[in-house]
Amino acid sequence: MRVVVSGGSGFLGSHLCEALLSRGDSVCCLDNHSSGRPVNIAHLRHDARFAFEAWDVTERFSVSGDVDAVVHLASPASPVDYQRFPLETLAAGSKGTENMLRLAERHSARFVLASTSEVYGDPEVHPQDEEYWGHVNPIGPRSVYDEAKRFAEAVTMAYRRSLAADVGIVRIFNTYGPRMRSYDGRVVSSFIRQALRGEPLTVFGDGSQTRSFCYVDDMVRGLIAMIDSDRPGPFNLGNPNERTVRELAELIAVITGSHCGLRFLPLPVDDPVRRRPVVARAREALGWQPRVSLEEGLRNTVDWFAAQSRTPLRPSHQSPVGRPS
Ligand code: UDP
Repeated sequence: MRVVVSGGSGFLGSHLCEALLSRGDSVCCLDNHSSGRPVNIAHLRHDARFAFEAWDVTERFSVSGDVDAVVHLASPASPVDYQRFPLETLAAGSKGTENMLRLAERHSARFVLASTSEVYGDPEVHPQDEEYWGHVNPIGPRSVYDEAKRFAEAVTMAYRRSLAADVGIVRIFNTYGPRMRSYDGRVVSSFIRQALRGEPLTVFGDGSQTRSFCYVDDMVRGLIAMIDSDRPGPFNLGNPNERTVRELAELIAVITGSHCGLRFLPLPVDDPVRRRPVVARAREALGWQPRVSLEEGLRNTVDWFAAQSRTPLRPSHQSPVGRPS
């Protein structure tokens, strides 16, 4: 297959490009390097089946030759990133999704949208299955991401209804692993960075809020199963193993041997209280389920972060997200 991956230099995108190449596919990776990093795909550049285009998905994109699938991952994805770039986030989810849908349509290719658990907002139903319509504050600070992804789902389904487009939607829950940016503001990367530097772990609120963390390799298997499927979804992809943020901090402290304790800071506005996916649909339709335990995944991630700190990247690679072009 030849697969176009938007956001292919990002944390998740780079793992997807790598997995597609290793099963024999060709990959055209698009990224504007607003939050994706060249270093994430540097090891793929020598592969003749890998092509990179510096591209902002809010611009129309065309490519010659066959395309079998388009996977739209491009967007700022951590709360710190999307609140820093609210307009760019809205554009990536709206214009960006339509441009990638058009690209898929022109090539009669399958289109896979990376949607998010954030479409459920601060859920009043627990755990969350795909029937739940969500509880999103449309004017809050997270709305730029949540509503952009909700629009992205709507336009994807409109292409299916009006053009019979071959589309699939996955709703991605919290995912972690190697290649997260240490300053992306997410909880796993922040806690690991702090623990390895001998700093206290910054727990927001009292740490009783929950998330369910999925290791990146499991997520990539789910994405590939959706590329290969003809089902529209939406399907939740995530690990139903739910933990409080405080439990996560304590686990990372044990794995890293940190004795620096916790530092409690105010809870951000509209921070969801509980989140856990029901993955029965993905299991039935895609034959997919997560395999990697939180302990194992965190150990791999800590090892990766520790290796990075032994061979530090240039400061620009470690700094928070740059402005999208
Ligand atoms: N969080 C925290 N300390 C941090 C960063 C995040 O306690 O240094 C909390 C955050 O308030 C949220 C949870 O961890 O309740 C997950 O945050 P993240 O930004 O990783 O993802 P999201 O909120 O999008 O699920």
